[in-house]
Amino acid sequence: MRLFNSLTRQVQEIVPIEDGHVRMYTCGPTVYRYMHLGNLRTFMLADLIRRALELEGLKVTQVMNITDVGHMTDESSPEALDKMLLAMEDEGLQPLEIAEKYTAAALEDALAVGIRRPDVLPKATEHVPDMIELTERLIDNGHAYVVDTGSVYYDVSSFPEYGKLSGNTLDKLRPGHRDLETDPRKRSHADFALWKAAGPGRLMKWPSPWGEGFPGWHVECSAMSMKYLGDRFDIHTGGTDLRFPHHEDEIAQSEGAVGHRVIDVWVHGGHLRLAGQKIAKSTGNVVRVPELAERGLDPLAFRWLTFQARYRSEMDFTWEAMEDADRRVRQLRKRMAEWAPPAAELSAESRAFDRRFREAIADDLDLPTAVKVVGELVSSAAVPDGEKYALLASWDGVLGLDLERDAREAWEPTEEVLRLVTERDEARNEKEYARSDEIRDRLQGMGLEVMDTPAGTKVRPR
Ligand SMILES: [Zn+2]
Repeated sequence: MRLFNSLTRQVQEIVPIEDGHVRMYTCGPTVYRYMHLGNLRTFMLADLIRRALELEGLKVTQVMNITDVGHMTDESSPEALDKMLLAMEDEGLQPLEIAEKYTAAALEDALAVGIRRPDVLPKATEHVPDMIELTERLIDNGHAYVVDTGSVYYDVSSFPEYGKLSGNTLDKLRPGHRDLETDPRKRSHADFALWKAAGPGRLMKWPSPWGEGFPGWHVECSAMSMKYLGDRFDIHTGGTDLRFPHHEDEIAQSEGAVGHRVIDVWVHGGHLRLAGQKIAKSTGNVVRVPELAERGLDPLAFRWLTFQARYRSEMDFTWEAMEDADRRVRQLRKRMAEWAPPAAELSAESRAFDRRFREAIADDLDLPTAVKVVGELVSSAAVPDGEKYALLASWDGVLGLDLERDAREAWEPTEEVLRLVTERDEARNEKEYARSDEIRDRLQGMGLEVMDTPAGTKVRPR
């Protein structure tokens, strides 16, 4: 599998640090508002990388953080209100209630568009001690300093490689490059906060060696990624807007703390635009997952829509394209139901299709080409129906479109299956468990899922 590494600006082979096991961190949602489709395109990138690596037989451990504290308007004075606080005033909820509400909504929306749940979903509020510890380490080894208000800043001049990800090296950063940068106690305008002293009236604050305060946003990701994935791991993903300052600062923190490279490959996804404009809450220009369903569209079809462009490109969201995607996905599911059951063996023609699909996915997630291969397979006269089914069912591991839905719903058990189910229920009644297990194995061998229910054995296609 090859991916474009923003750090080296090259497409490169993913060679896991630990043989056969890829560890990946994804910057997750900031939970004081709903996710829009643009956010979901970014999270889908991580999901697709994971699915593609799994298609190649690799094990993947994926961590995605939940930013439920701070993420103030980037850098700011201790007095500034953070967004969570503003949301609270809007809704009359307590900070953790807000975080809970929007975390649940984010995970639900992600699931609706087929984004599988990451293995670990650490919440920033539950890792403040880890962030304090990392900040202490950076102070101890000369990368950070405390100012008299009790805030702690990263000394960017102490990290000569600063700028290697984004190109924003120290000499290029001019004072005032960040609008809200106001603390006159900073040594340099480029320094950024690791810990911010709590201003008056601040609700979300924690004790620290420097007084009550709260962590900077960037330090969250350094602390949580290294806690769960170690100080050397393979892939870090996020939206292209996070390259600077968020990821640049993360590199300075993590590498400053441990003294060596932490992450091999940085992958950044392009924006989704609505009618030619960047989708952003600030412009009131957002589409959310429930709106797709309200219009009678399958949220999973949003995946197909994004497959029409490479992940690094900006792409436009239009309702017309969304409706096309919806039609196409429904059509594929219908064809699958007609082609069932899957063939057990693949012909040379089918294997050639399979190679082309896998090669496209492995080539920096070339989904537009993969989609083309799907189209050619569907209309191919050389591939028997059962093989088409088998191929699409296997590719759906990456596509994530639930392509077998109609086939599953149209499925009816054969005489043989019905007989085996009855025999198994009899064996269980007689407490002949070896026999019952043997029949279960046979049913599973026929591609069925076997469930024990109070009403006896139930089966359905896996
Ligand atoms: Zn992050």
